[in-house]
Amino acid sequence: MRLNISGIQGRKGAFFRVERELPGDFLKTLPEISRVLGPISAELKVTNTGDAYLVTGSLSVEVELRCSRCLEPLQTRLEATCEQEFLKEPEFDEEEELLEEQHVVEGNELDATSLIRETLLISVPMKVVCSPDCPGLCPSCGASLAEGDCGCPSPDVDIRLAPLSKLLELSPQAATPERRKDHGSTKEETFQGKGQQKES
Ligand SMILES: [Zn+2]
Ligand SMILES: [Zn+2]
Repeated sequence: MRLNISGIQGRKGAFFRVERELPGDFLKTLPEISRVLGPISAELKVTNTGDAYLVTGSLSVEVELRCSRCLEPLQTRLEATCEQEFLKEPEFDEEEELLEEQHVVEGNELDATSLIRETLLISVPMKVVCSPDCPGLCPSCGASLAEGDCGCPSPDVDIRLAPLSKLLELSPQAATPERRKDHGSTKEETFQGKGQQKES
């Protein structure tokens, strides 16, 4: 989405608003999104701040996601706000390398495409459920438990605790460096010295 800024160039404090509908096909690259149900609606405001152009605004688009428990499709409206400065000139660091991730105007145009994309992509929820009490799928046969009992024996506790026991396995290793630190402390040494008489 390229915006012509010639109307506010050289006029600090000047701004304009723009409303556009844009294709949201790029959202389909996300595995969480099964369908894009309409265009992206973008309402942006571009302000000349003197040193840069500030783009602020709101974006929304209707999409179909899948419930992360039962995998049923569900429709939702992604909504996000954005705020990004576009520099008048590119900025360089001490080694004259172009600083990364900077947005710069190109002549009398400003390209908000990547801003819109990134804003919407990070607005997609990692997990979404069709209802707070969605029972999900049977871990044995994969049937949707919302549609009734599948007849499988009740889920094995071990299966449900498996992720937890993994965490428990990991935690002693994770704690090792901290313990070493404790052993190195004066307090710990004194205590051990009393008990084991290793050090005088
Ligand atoms: Zn569900
Ligand atoms: Zn089952």
